Amino acid sequence: MTTNRAEPSFRESVDLMFNRAAALLDLPPGLEEKIRVCNSTYTVRFGVKLRGRVQTFTGYRSVHSEHTEPVKGGIRYSLGVNQDEVEALAALMTYKCALVEAPFGGSKGGLCIDPREYDTDELEKITRRFAYELIKRDLIDPAQNVPAPDMGTGEREMAIIADQYARMNTTDINARACVTGKPPHAGGIKGRVEATGRGVQYALQEFFRHPEDIAKAGLSGSLDGKRVIVQGLGNVGYHAAKFLSEEDGSIITYVIERDGAIHDRNGLDIEDLHNWISEHGGVKGYPNGQYIENGSAVLEEECDILIPAALEAVINLSNAANIKAPLIIEAANGPVTAGANDILLEKGTVIIPDLYANAGGVTVSYFEWVKNLSHIRFGRMQRRQEESRHQLIVDELERLDAHLGGKWSMTPDFKQKYLRGAGELELVRSGLDDTMREAYAAMQEVWHNREGVKDLRTAGFVVAVSRVASSYQAKGI
Ligand code: NAD
Repeated sequence: MTTNRAEPSFRESVDLMFNRAAALLDLPPGLEEKIRVCNSTYTVRFGVKLRGRVQTFTGYRSVHSEHTEPVKGGIRYSLGVNQDEVEALAALMTYKCALVEAPFGGSKGGLCIDPREYDTDELEKITRRFAYELIKRDLIDPAQNVPAPDMGTGEREMAIIADQYARMNTTDINARACVTGKPPHAGGIKGRVEATGRGVQYALQEFFRHPEDIAKAGLSGSLDGKRVIVQGLGNVGYHAAKFLSEEDGSIITYVIERDGAIHDRNGLDIEDLHNWISEHGGVKGYPNGQYIENGSAVLEEECDILIPAALEAVINLSNAANIKAPLIIEAANGPVTAGANDILLEKGTVIIPDLYANAGGVTVSYFEWVKNLSHIRFGRMQRRQEESRHQLIVDELERLDAHLGGKWSMTPDFKQKYLRGAGELELVRSGLDDTMREAYAAMQEVWHNREGVKDLRTAGFVVAVSRVASSYQAKGI
């Protein structure tokens, strides 16, 4: 989305950020361009008979890099979808997967549609037909191209895509692995719906473990009590805001939505506000906060952390200079344009970039894909065995304690927590937390030590591009 004449397009913005990192790497001649370009973009147009007439829809599936397959990336339903946007998002997926060491190339898809204009049955018809068009071209396939949810899509669409693939590939035993983000009862994994927002929380928790990085943003202390502005209370924004406020003590002072913003300086009740939006379609009229009509102006309000979690290019040349947040975490893809990025860095704003910040989704999608291919849920073989080993230790400690007169008995809470073996959700969260910490460490090492790297985004791109380059070089390209 271009919001200003001087502003590069989304894809140009991603390319500019890539170029900056590539200039710091000693890549063999020609490899830089090979990595930057999008390998292919398919446009499909198809008709669906709805409400007594045929409606024609336009969709895209773009493959950015096949250095590792399958390629991976969400499917977005939005009227703003276009070739430039899917190509930018596909490129970001390549770098994101490389940064979090998910073994995928980058891809992205989109359908030009406002899903709110259609009922559930109509959306199923449209989704099935779109999936059919992509499947017959091998643009959805467990070994080649595995979509996931993105803006405007969710578990229901993913379940429909998986079913459509299974109908067209009746003997493929790995059919379920053709798409991730499915509901748990249709081959999904626990913790996938919350994964991207959970990843945003883990990314912030990791950032706040490093006093030298917190100081770069001019902040101090922990997430507790930090004032946060969230834009977009959809899948990503809602989960991030919910976890930060309920578990880390952060105060969500503003939520910005399509129809305006809601403010409470003492902190909004995210669950309550989310229920209101689900029921009324927007924030207007919400009784437990102050309504502000001009939502985008709220991005410029005072806060400690700004979380754009809606769409791209919302922080651009027109408002970057006015942004007061010292720390921005890009929960959405591409919310800060390349021009705005430079203005903010000049001001000393620390930006935790999209390719890291919202990688929780693809990370848990990776776990789901592995689960589908292995045909067994994580923890099924070990859980009870782990519990009986823990029980052995507890029994032994209790025996020793009794021997010493029973003075040091364990608290029931500790005993209960210690005895419980990890189920799928605990394992998914543990794997996600580990991934976010490891990826941060890789970026931070470059950020602090590599000459010419002044920000986390360039650091993230340096890590990602050098990994993609190594993969191409190992294959002899
Ligand atoms: P979503 O459709 O669930 O939510 C988007 C939210 O933003 C909605 O509540 C919508 O009303 C709101 N919104 C739309 N336009 C707005 C505007 N102009 N101002 C304020 N709010 C507006 O989408 P999502 O899945 O949460 O995705 C949000 C962003 O996160 C996108 O950039 C997407 O690419 C990125 N992302 C999503 C995932 C995922 O797993 N869903 C993973 C990685 C990145």
